[in-house]
Amino acid sequence: MAEALPRVGLIGWPVEHSLSPVMHNAAFRALGLGWRYDLLPVQPGHLEAAMADLRAGGFRGANVTVPHKRAVMAYLDQIDGAAESIGAVNTLSVQGRRWIGHNTDAAGFVRAVREGGLEPAGRQALLLGAGGAARSVAYALAGAGCTVFVYNRTVRRAAALVADLRRLGLDAPVTCSPGERALDELDLTRFDLLVNATAVGMWPSHEDTPWPDELPMPAHWTVFDLVYNPLETRLLRQARRAGAKTIDGLGMLVWQGALAFELWTGQKPPVDLMRAAALQALGSRY
Ligand code: NAP
Repeated sequence: MAEALPRVGLIGWPVEHSLSPVMHNAAFRALGLGWRYDLLPVQPGHLEAAMADLRAGGFRGANVTVPHKRAVMAYLDQIDGAAESIGAVNTLSVQGRRWIGHNTDAAGFVRAVREGGLEPAGRQALLLGAGGAARSVAYALAGAGCTVFVYNRTVRRAAALVADLRRLGLDAPVTCSPGERALDELDLTRFDLLVNATAVGMWPSHEDTPWPDELPMPAHWTVFDLVYNPLETRLLRQARRAGAKTIDGLGMLVWQGALAFELWTGQKPPVDLMRAAALQALGSRY
């Protein structure tokens, strides 16, 4: 009997907007691997059954997105150091019968920062947001020696992120204001990097920005927007007008996928091809 094609997929809700199938299937085809990547919509409350189906279905791994990045940890045999520290898993790999959780968002983010021309070591970052993505970014930056100041709409969420990461003793400190403070009360000139890890600016609310129009942005900044739909966010347009360098969210998306691809297949990922496939799919949507 012919062996079934190796399968991977994306668990989340909703998932239909995802660029991952296009990116990974292009890479599988290019390397002649015969693997397949599918969308695996899993509603909240149905994760345990979905994980049992993955195990029984002979899957070789998966990606995990909202709202399951934390909850999935309860159904794994092992969690790697980065994912455990961040408290979120975005990639599952399989070794024998053991399902292992990883976080490739963090390493993917740092690759994209370096690709954008900024070495994070010794820098200071202002990080907007304190959700799952912000946790990965803060962990990655502080681990790479970049000081991180977290600013979030909900102050207690920023404080919780800081408290959790401080316990890890990373290479650089992660801090936030003890109470409510406006962005214009911060000394902005001390930062080198602004990262938007909030959901503000995402399609269909793409005319929104997390940065107040009336607040001047220092020209020496690099501004990284995790939002990639659309690629050209209003925040990045503000940054360009101020003379700052910009990095869009596509590089992080591609690198987190490339690192997952390597974990699953053991092969060097065709990163440029994955980027081109994602870009083409994005271009046809927005
Ligand atoms: P999340 O856990 O739901 O966190 C959302 C964050 O956005 C929170 O900090 C939230 O603040 C903030 N926020 C939402 N609406 C806001 C508003 N109107 N004003 C101010 N702050 C607001 O989401 P996530 O998973 O961290 O994702 C955040 C963004 O990163 C999304 O756009 C996602 O697509 C993007 N992302 C990109 C990549 C990539 O590869 N490029 C990877 C992961 C995520 P509160 O705490 O106050 O609610």
